Amino acid sequence: MQRRNFLSFGLAGITSQLFGKSLDNQGVKNNPIVISTWEHGLDANKAAWEILSKNGKALDAVEAGVKVSEADPNITTVGYGGFPDRDGRVTLDACIMDENSNCGSVAFLEHIMHPISVARLVMEKTPHVMLVGEGALDFALKNGFKKENLLTPVAEKAWKEWLREAKYEPVINFENNHDTIGMIALDANGNLSGACTTSGMSWKMHGRVGDSPIIGAGLYVDNEVGAACATGVGEAVIRTVGSHLVVELMRQGKSPEKACKAAVERIMQRFKGFEKIQVGFLALNKKGEYGAYCIQKGFNYAVYSGKVNNQLFDGKSAI
Ligand code: ASP
Repeated sequence: MQRRNFLSFGLAGITSQLFGKSLDNQGVKNNPIVISTWEHGLDANKAAWEILSKNGKALDAVEAGVKVSEADPNITTVGYGGFPDRDGRVTLDACIMDENSNCGSVAFLEHIMHPISVARLVMEKTPHVMLVGEGALDFALKNGFKKENLLTPVAEKAWKEWLREAKYEPVINFENNHDTIGMIALDANGNLSGACTTSGMSWKMHGRVGDSPIIGAGLYVDNEVGAACATGVGEAVIRTVGSHLVVELMRQGKSPEKACKAAVERIMQRFKGFEKIQVGFLALNKKGEYGAYCIQKGFNYAVYSGKVNNQLFDGKSAI
């Protein structure tokens, strides 16, 4: 075989090895998998797995999955029950992305229990990617969503306690203030999708939007390569376009864990005071391999697949 032929044959082989059978998605069945951030990812994964295990679409799975967290009043940084901003208002950010690079997002949205479903409608029913604030609310109401009070008595009490000192510290306490749910999934047809939804940092400035609804920052999906999502201090994630960075690093051949690690290291190089904040990335590639990495210890994620029966894993940490 001539050297050039050998090279191109070799490259084709490597490419199909890298991306498995699923580049063309021509009726090839893959092993589905869903992964999501934090312990509440376990409940969310169950809903997603219901869909994935029946050969459903990753897009439907991630939406159904994160809706569980959005509706859970005990999760204080997602949807209903989320801690409010410093003016006592619960404002929500969410985004969703599918295997065709379609994406939709809402930010600074109030009164809607399921911002992820509004984000999906933005993706499917408008020529736009992102709607914010009043415009997002109007769009939701016109599409049949109900206006609800999302401030639970528990969240209101916590806010009133915070008001006594009203100390404005927009720093994520990495012990208990980082419950954004990011979920990414690969379905039986080899397609990837992801969703991310949050009420953001507690006691944030009114109008503050974090990384979670920003495509490329809080979430990114590239169906040729993989998907990634982020949690932690959104400002640090936005500055490095973190989830997009993770996917691009996987494109260059890094494993999901190594890609997440390199993105965390980039943040640590660029972000003064990184010792005091948490950022965690979670990634999944086309072959169904997954991994995570974070700055501080304490970031965990839930995995549900044919091989892993909805278990929690600790993300490796830099510190
Ligand atoms: N990334 C979210 C934000 O900055 C916070 C989190 O992950 O809990 O709004």
